[in-house]
Amino acid sequence: MANKETSTKGSGSEKVVKTDAEWRAILSPQQFHVLREKGTERAFTGEYCASHDRTMYVCAGCGQELFGSDAKYDSGSGWPSFTAPAAPSSVEVETDEGHGMVRTEVHCSRCGGHLGHVFPDGPSDAGGLRYCINSASLKATPGR
Ligand code: FE
Repeated sequence: MANKETSTKGSGSEKVVKTDAEWRAILSPQQFHVLREKGTERAFTGEYCASHDRTMYVCAGCGQELFGSDAKYDSGSGWPSFTAPAAPSSVEVETDEGHGMVRTEVHCSRCGGHLGHVFPDGPSDAGGLRYCINSASLKATPGR
């Protein structure tokens, strides 16, 4: 059987589906909490919050390319912030009415892992969106 994990160019067509036990085996407790339980890391604590490294950030769960550093900017929010995903098909959104707010949740289109939220207060000269993403859901791939 072909190893689906080797494909990182995501159209979202090849879904990655695992049980909680299988996810726990490959993710850190923090990654599991964010990706599979829709957790949020504390502001200004994430590994990539202040990073300006030139890189492609892939999904920490399935390896799909999610956000390029060319779209990363310093929003001051305390979480890695991007104006756009690496490709429109990289992420999917859905309405999140949890925590007494109506927000737009963002998840990986390939494995369904929770990434963060998208807000309409991003840089107006770059589309006006702010993808507010947990570092724990990302993995930098230096050289890409
Ligand atoms: Fe994923």
